[in-house]
Formats: sequence, structure tokens, C-alpha cells
Amino acid sequence: MSSSSPNRMILLGAPGAGKGTVAKGLVDHLQVTHLSTGDMLRAAIKAGTEVGMLAKTFMDRGALVPDDVMVALIAERVGQDDCKAADGSAKFLLDGFPRTLPQADALDDRGLGPDAVIYLKVDVDVIVERLTGRRSCPGCGAPYHVTFRRPKVDGICDICETALVHRSDDQEGPIRKRLDAYNGQTAPLVDRYRAQLVAIDGNQSPSDVLKDVLVAVSAAG
Ligand code: ADP
Ligand code: ADP
Ligand code: ZN
Repeated sequence: MSSSSPNRMILLGAPGAGKGTVAKGLVDHLQVTHLSTGDMLRAAIKAGTEVGMLAKTFMDRGALVPDDVMVALIAERVGQDDCKAADGSAKFLLDGFPRTLPQADALDDRGLGPDAVIYLKVDVDVIVERLTGRRSCPGCGAPYHVTFRRPKVDGICDICETALVHRSDDQEGPIRKRLDAYNGQTAPLVDRYRAQLVAIDGNQSPSDVLKDVLVAVSAAG
């Protein structure tokens, strides 16, 4: 299956739709690097970089980080060796980028528009339940859930054994703002990418979502 997957893939969906969960499953099946802009920003905050300190002021209140900051961050990242296929062409799985029309334009301007866009469609009440119960690994970014995806050892990541956290933006106030940002600024990408888009029912179990996504990417490859 890895040989037939598309080179440049985007996971699109609301906060909590299951993008990170699907991405972790996909990289087990496909030869591709997972780029989560949320994880990259949280790493920058932890490292105390200028970008991190700026981003934090937006992330804490559930607002989007400015486009110029995000575009610079991703442009630098996709140029690295682990984002290249054997023939040297760009290959990556984007999770959390683009989130606005100007961010999508920035990919196109660099000849990096997606070959496939996987859109995880999830009902809003399901999203809120997923976000409020999410626990996250600050080490490897793996998402857990107090009910739907419990770690083997309470509070500890199965993969890298880091202590899990309840993200400060996974609280009611910021969640509402993030859903507003999604509806206002990110949802228009569904129409923008209609030619490359495959809609997946994200309300299903994680294994059924992954199964549908694998079928979709192999068809798109
Ligand atoms: P996103 O990256 O889109 O914000 P995550 O993958 O972090 O979403 O998932 C959000 C929360 O929902 C996490 O707690 C995760 O464990 C849980 N989750 C993800 N996919 C499913 C699913 N198909 N069914 C139930 N819970 C899920
Ligand atoms: P989720 O998938 O739960 O929405 P992420 O980890 O993807 O969360 O993003 C967390 C926060 O990081 C967002 O609420 C936003 O502030 C910031 N962020 C991540 N990616 C982008 C982006 N492409 N553009 C603007 N802000 C972003
Ligand atoms: Zn981990």
C-alpha cells in the first residue's frame, strides 16, 4: 500500500475530529512523515523560542496563530529530508495545516498543493465530548481519552512513557473559541479542496475511521 499512497496529503477536520489519531495510524501503514502544526507549536513553546512565545498568546485563548508565522514554520519544515520521497519530490502528511485560505494559497504558491485531502466529518456534540476528555502526550503528541482511548498505565503514554497532560485549550472556553475559528476560517477549505477531497465518517470507532482512510488514500494514490 505504501507505494501507491499520494505524496502530499492533508488531514482536514474540526478540532477533536480525530486527525492526530488517524495520523498515528496512517504512519504505521504508509511511508510518510506526520507534520502536526499543533505539536510543532507546543514544542516551540516548551523550547522557549520567539515563535513559541508569540504562538502561546493565541493558542491559550483558542485563536489561530497568524498566517505569516504558520507559513514560515511549515515552509521550513517541509524542506527537510524526512519530507522527501525517494525521487526527491515533497512527501508529507499535514495535520492542522492549512487552517485558513491564505495558508492553502501559500502551499499552492510553493507547488505543494495536496494530492489528497482527507476530511474527517464529525458531529459537534461528539467533538465537544472528545476534546473535553482528551489527554495528550507532550512527548510524542499521541492523543488519549479518559473514556474512548485509555492508556495501558493510568496517566502515562503507551508509546514514550511521558506523563499525559490535559491541554489548557481543551477546556470549555477555549474549545468554544476554537470551534468558532474552525467554522469561520477553516471550514471554507472543504469547498476549496473539493477536487481532492474525500469525506470520511469520523463518528465511527478509531479502527473503522482508519480503515476508511486507508481505502481512500490507496484509491487516491
Ligand atoms: P484532532 O487531532 O483532530 O484534534 P485527536 O486525534 O486528538 O483529534 O482526537 C481528539 C480526542 O478524541 C482524543 O482524546 C482521541 O483519543 C479521541 N478520539 C479520536 N478519534 C476517535 C474516535 N474515532 N472515536 C472516539 N474517540 C476518538
Ligand atoms: P486541535 O487539532 O485540537 O485543534 P492543534 O494541536 O492542531 O489542536 O492546534 C492547537 C492550536 O495551535 C490551535 O488552536 C491554534 O491556536 C494553533 N494552530 C495550530 N495549527 C495552526 C495553523 N495552521 N494556523 C493557525 N494556528 C494554528
Ligand atoms: Zn508519548
